[in-house]
Amino acid sequence: QSQEISQFSIDYHVALQALVEDGTKMVCTGRMHTDRICRFESLCYSTEAEEFVFFHSSSSVMLPNLGSRRFQPALLDLSSVEDHNTQYFNFVELPAAALKFMPKPVFVPDVALIMNRFNPDNLMHIFHDDLLPIFYTMQQFPDLDLDTRLFFMEGWGEGLHFELYKLLSNKQPLLREQLKTLGRLLCFTKSYVGLSKITTWYQYGFVQPQGPKANILVSGNEIRQFKTFMMKRLNVSLEGIPGEEYIIVFSRTINRLILNEAELILALAQEFQMKTITVSIEDHTFSEIVHLISNASMLVSMHGAQLVMSLFLPRGATVVELFPFAINPEHYTPYKTLSTLPGMDLQYISWQNTEKENTVTYPDRPWDQGGIAHLDKTEQDRIIKSNEVSRHLCCRNPEWLFRIYQDTKINIASLIQIIRQTVKTKPRPKKQKWTSGLYPGKVRDAKCQASIQGTSEAKLSISWQIPWNLKYLKVREVKYEVWIQEQGENTYMPYILSHRNHTFSDNIKPFTNYLVWIRCIFNKNLLGPFADMLVCST
Ligand code: UDP
Repeated sequence: QSQEISQFSIDYHVALQALVEDGTKMVCTGRMHTDRICRFESLCYSTEAEEFVFFHSSSSVMLPNLGSRRFQPALLDLSSVEDHNTQYFNFVELPAAALKFMPKPVFVPDVALIMNRFNPDNLMHIFHDDLLPIFYTMQQFPDLDLDTRLFFMEGWGEGLHFELYKLLSNKQPLLREQLKTLGRLLCFTKSYVGLSKITTWYQYGFVQPQGPKANILVSGNEIRQFKTFMMKRLNVSLEGIPGEEYIIVFSRTINRLILNEAELILALAQEFQMKTITVSIEDHTFSEIVHLISNASMLVSMHGAQLVMSLFLPRGATVVELFPFAINPEHYTPYKTLSTLPGMDLQYISWQNTEKENTVTYPDRPWDQGGIAHLDKTEQDRIIKSNEVSRHLCCRNPEWLFRIYQDTKINIASLIQIIRQTVKTKPRPKKQKWTSGLYPGKVRDAKCQASIQGTSEAKLSISWQIPWNLKYLKVREVKYEVWIQEQGENTYMPYILSHRNHTFSDNIKPFTNYLVWIRCIFNKNLLGPFADMLVCST
């Protein structure tokens, strides 16, 4: 025991001396505060000031060194939500010599990932803003393994689903409040600050009405890798339940209810000749829900955060999202965007209640549950008469809240009809090969040969070889696109061809230079890169 303590005090002494002598080292990736993640050695945090501290010495490193641009508006976003002014990270600077006058630092030996959760009470936010970004930030930096310690700095309590965050590493995540109990000045030996936004697909409408992100960079494959990781950590079997096919109705039990749920379940069971079961956050554990969803053929649910769980569906399954009266499904698409990510392989169907007599409103509830009693009478009347909520910004639009918290009696016939338009036979998960979305390489060895007939006619014979990767692939249809441009002109003639050579004679003139671009196309829409430009002279 005493040896351990002395060992510890030696380590402590070494660590303190290193901090005083070397100060803080920071090297970041990213060009802007919105895409920056920083790696630190000896970043400290004052739990009294609630500020991070960068200690300068002759060996400290600060890259990028932005000067006062570090405050315009911040060094980086601490959450995965882009440029949100409540989620900025910065530090204050001190000379390392100031440590002499400060509380004794407490060193955090674990590699730390320091970040903000955006809304840990809402499942959509938990998965989209936190769990997926944490998972893929950890994949980006090899230091961040299962022994990483997560530090949640947004200042919330554990939130409703803390158990999900605990799956991401073997160490208990720490909340900002808990840091006070560790000491007055904490120094992280090695830490990463910020989250990757590479997997996010939705923007919530802070600066423009909500919708899919402009430049989505994630595909179904990465979502499924995350799903597999989560299922392993939850100890849920990845094997299907053979012979069992079923539909899940994911119900909400507090608000935004389906009023005729029993009737809906019977109708679905009868129409698709399948067992139909209900699940809810209130009545099932996460493991149960994940296990059930991961083998389901169809998931039916009201619009709401629980629908993010459709990421656990098997490929080929169907998502049916139900929208209350006056809520246009095209304007609220976090789950549609998820289901239709490239390679996600889910069928997505939306249904909206268009019959006012089938909706139940709650004007007298508190404003955050859709109540409108606090508004002017004329505004209340306008909202009640309106048949569609116009596009709006997040997050407190009373008309939106009023409509989104309605309960709905589903018109079963219209719902079944809409599902049947997409799902012709029995809905069922399917096995898909991962090669289906691969792109061609460049065509190779492109050559041209010119011949001239008389003074006004010429021909251009162009040939090329298949892209190198084609010989290893099974591709349904291989086509080639050829662009021919007369040098100096700004238009070109495009051709789509099935063969690897072609003789062009239309509009080909003698004694002229032509620029030729060729690319390969798989299965109509997988466009490869153009090969190097070919110059052909007739
Ligand atoms: N929630 C639930 N059952 C309910 C109502 C809400 O499980 O009856 C969950 C919902 O899935 C989400 C959280 O509570 O994770 C917050 O719900 P809210 O209605 O605020 O958000 P929304 O679902 O519209 O995103």
